[in-house]
Amino acid sequence: MANITFGMIKPDAVKKNYSGKIIDMILSAGFKINGMKLIQLTKEQAKQFYLVHKDRPFYMELVEYITSGPVIALALEKDNAVQDYRILLGATDPLEAADGTIRKLFGESKAVNAIHGSDSDENAKIEISFMFSNLELVS
Ligand code: UDP
Ligand code: MG
Repeated sequence: MANITFGMIKPDAVKKNYSGKIIDMILSAGFKINGMKLIQLTKEQAKQFYLVHKDRPFYMELVEYITSGPVIALALEKDNAVQDYRILLGATDPLEAADGTIRKLFGESKAVNAIHGSDSDENAKIEISFMFSNLELVS
């Protein structure tokens, strides 16, 4: 069973100083942090990161939002990491997210939803290698 995923605390949550609470929830849920950094993405990096959504109507808005301030990139490890982390995040739209999930607690809207999580083992690997060099990761 694959055991890594990529997380990212989005600019709204960083600006509102929710990062500590969110990281505490991630650690309390049993994830190990193998990499963590505060970074300001460029427009080009954001377009590349979200390339899978390039034909969606919200693509440019998403690129604007994710570059509107620093994000905290997280390389995470746990058994069943992708699935367990998505459960901890909650649904994309905070209004639909289950009680106690990060998006329910800290998200503002379907677009401005506090946190990212990989949707598959394949994308977890791609996203971690996009955001981190080997030297920035422990294991
Ligand atoms: N998003 C949006 N409008 C939508 C759907 C998604 O602005 O109708 C944004 C939102 O920030 C979301 C991101 O695009 O987290 C990626 O969308 P995806 O469908 O992959 O949702 P996620 O995997 O983040 O739950
Ligand atoms: Mg997604």
